[in-house]
Amino acid sequence: MGKLLAGTDGEVEYTVNFATDADGRAFINGALQSQITMCCQRCLQLFKMPVSSDFVVSPVLDDEQAKDLPTEYEPVSLHAGKLLDVEELIEDELILVMPLMTMHDEQDPNCQQLAIPTGTTDVTQEKKNPFQILQELKLKAEDK
Ligand SMILES: [Zn+2]
Repeated sequence: MGKLLAGTDGEVEYTVNFATDADGRAFINGALQSQITMCCQRCLQLFKMPVSSDFVVSPVLDDEQAKDLPTEYEPVSLHAGKLLDVEELIEDELILVMPLMTMHDEQDPNCQQLAIPTGTTDVTQEKKNPFQILQELKLKAEDK
């Protein structure tokens, strides 16, 4: 159990278990959960969204090894001579589970469509990609 991206909004709890299977293949069985702060694309208010993921990955050194990997494993690249970076792994998994569309639930009473006069809507402002959000989480953590 450990913590990454410390900060009130950007906390990730995760567990990782290292093991080897019957073929002697090393793999990592992990789980993560977090609450990420998102900007609702309908009302533009920030809200928290729980995310979680279970994953099974196996380290590979190159594409050949990745191809040989049984389908139940997700390949994670290891650069020769380097140890697996668990925090990097968790970050990658977190990016994978981030929703593409960030909006309140349809029935959420907190979500009210903004009355934006037509013609002034800046669409580009509303779109944030997960990488940008992760960057913001990190920046928040560094402020502490
Ligand atoms: Zn909303």
